[in-house]
Amino acid sequence: MREAPHLTFDLDAPGVSRGHLLVPGGADRGELSLPVFSLNKGEGPRLLVTGGNHGNELEGPLVARRLIEWLPEEQTCGRIIVVPVLNPLAVEAWSRNTPLDGLNLNRVFPGRADGSVTERIADAVSRVLLPTADTVFDLHSFGPTWHFPPAATTHPIADPDLMARTVRMAEAFNLPLTLVWEYNDTAGMFDILAQNQGKVFVCTEFGGGTVGADNLAIYEAGVRNALIALGLVEGKADYPTFRQQKSGQTLETHPCDDLRSPARGIFEPRCSVLDEVKQGDLIGILHPMDSISTESMDIRAPGTSFVLAIRSGVHVEINEGVALVAGPLKI
Ligand SMILES: [Zn+2]
Repeated sequence: MREAPHLTFDLDAPGVSRGHLLVPGGADRGELSLPVFSLNKGEGPRLLVTGGNHGNELEGPLVARRLIEWLPEEQTCGRIIVVPVLNPLAVEAWSRNTPLDGLNLNRVFPGRADGSVTERIADAVSRVLLPTADTVFDLHSFGPTWHFPPAATTHPIADPDLMARTVRMAEAFNLPLTLVWEYNDTAGMFDILAQNQGKVFVCTEFGGGTVGADNLAIYEAGVRNALIALGLVEGKADYPTFRQQKSGQTLETHPCDDLRSPARGIFEPRCSVLDEVKQGDLIGILHPMDSISTESMDIRAPGTSFVLAIRSGVHVEINEGVALVAGPLKI
């Protein structure tokens, strides 16, 4: 009989526990052990913090490790479970998807017990970890070749009460950007599974392609602010400084806000993230490299908006995303 996924320790034991989430083996490889930290201080919120869902987003695992260092001193109540790396195969390969089966962990939830390794990880997380929490923070980054401000994000949720509670939780990170992000490719996301079970789920995102000390400090401060808002640690929430500013704003973006390349070539950014632009303002220039007699093409703002994300340092194909804009939250 196939072994069921399980934790190697008792979650209800008081205080700190360190152990593993065992993901059973299958046809493609043997068992996987994901390191898990748990701190149980009795009554209070039940929080799950995960990183390394995508393997080329390394801020999350690093911030998760920092949490494990200071939570024993600072957590006052409730239970926090921290899993720094959900997908070790992808992290070790610095790859968004799992190299072994090519799957994106964040598109296969709730997973399959008899599936390939990525589906088995999702199955173990869905069945063993998710039921332990009423709030989930999944620590992502925007990934390489994009600039993206430090942000707490969610997606539109049909239940207005859960939507409001989720936006409030995301705003409590006090990051420069809180974003309600509507896009079409959401089937199989960890977020959707958790939200369908009525849980508050917030993703943090942070782009730039490299892991820097300043970025990590902002990211960690955001998570600490959220823990303070939940009442899990004591202290005063503050806005981390980003570009000499201490402030945040809440925006929404839709699939139509995705600006795409009119041709293949090198994209030159002409603005920065969180810049406010008016209709017709220059966002960037696409330089075709196949022929120097082909003129470079301006990419301009479709309307008054904020620049959320901007591509950099990469040759793009025609119709590939080069920028994402957003407006103030209306829902
Ligand atoms: Zn990600």
